[in-house]
Amino acid sequence: MSVHFKKLALIGIGLIGSSIALAARRHGLVDTIAIATRREETLDEARALALGDIYTLDAAEAVHGADLVILCAPVGAYEALAKAIAPALEPGAILSDVGSVKAHVHKVVGPYVPPNVAFIPGHPLAGTEHSGPGAGFAELFSGRWCVLTPGPEVPQEQTDKLVGFWRAMGSNVECMDAAHHDMVLAITSHVPHLVAYNIVGTVADLEADTKSEVIKFSASGFRDFTRIAASDPVMWRDVFLTNRDAVLEMLGRFLEDLSVLQRAVRTGDGPALEEMFTRTRAIRRSIINAGQETAAADFGRPHEAVPKSEEQR
Ligand code: NAP
Repeated sequence: MSVHFKKLALIGIGLIGSSIALAARRHGLVDTIAIATRREETLDEARALALGDIYTLDAAEAVHGADLVILCAPVGAYEALAKAIAPALEPGAILSDVGSVKAHVHKVVGPYVPPNVAFIPGHPLAGTEHSGPGAGFAELFSGRWCVLTPGPEVPQEQTDKLVGFWRAMGSNVECMDAAHHDMVLAITSHVPHLVAYNIVGTVADLEADTKSEVIKFSASGFRDFTRIAASDPVMWRDVFLTNRDAVLEMLGRFLEDLSVLQRAVRTGDGPALEEMFTRTRAIRRSIINAGQETAAADFGRPHEAVPKSEEQR
């Protein structure tokens, strides 16, 4: 089956939109790329980076004649965007997205989608803490999962075509129910982000209150949390506003388990702590074995060579 599209319209051109533009171009998956965004400065940046062929501030203009439309804006902007583009969508087109939550996307976009358009929401499980058109790179999706959540009304051949598009950009693809996606992502991504935001916030308050040197001496534990807590504030605000039930369910379990750990620390229960840390170490190993992380020390961060001492020379 051909995974080639005549015209791809990207609505929003930040980290994810620009990475799709670069990857689709590199793999020859599209003839024309139309880019729409909200602010003139972002559009100018996308143009300067030559990410597309058509640039506009009017999302409806971008989707005109497009056989693939992908929403790449924060999820909170989706409903207004869906309303704006719906009358301009081409019969037979595929409408997709990259939002980090899925049931909410079905709920707010679905009602605007014309019956002759295949609505196949998606979520590439790939990203960095950087934002904007300059943050994208063509290899972002390589070896990463992309989850698609087509409704039962979508023709299989349209789903197969979108699956082929993501595979051609290097992704592994899985289709699942939107609610299941949201539950899985709540524990693998959303709650970890909430924990990171909380730890970094606590340290920042402590630093301000005590004028201590916690930030200066922050070792890898805290430093690794700061990378996650530097993620885009608007995107993450929208994730917690739109995946509330699944996040609260997983947060409840997390807090119960944290209480168990708290008790083990308080009572000095060494065997319980060791047993828990042994289990978690095995999980990290399985993630590395699955090719989703590097085994290199310190998350593979490059380190400057340490000058050799006199005795070592
Ligand atoms: P980003 O780098 O911050 O870019 C967001 C883009 O959306 C910008 O082009 C922005 O345009 C546009 N936008 C913002 N508000 C808009 C509005 N109200 N109407 C129209 N356009 C608007 O964001 P991103 O990281 O690419 O994330 C985009 C989507 O991908 C989000 O839904 C997010 O959940 C999902 N996602 C992100 C990651 C990640 O790690 N970052 C991973 C997977 C999925 P202006 O600059 O013109 O305002």
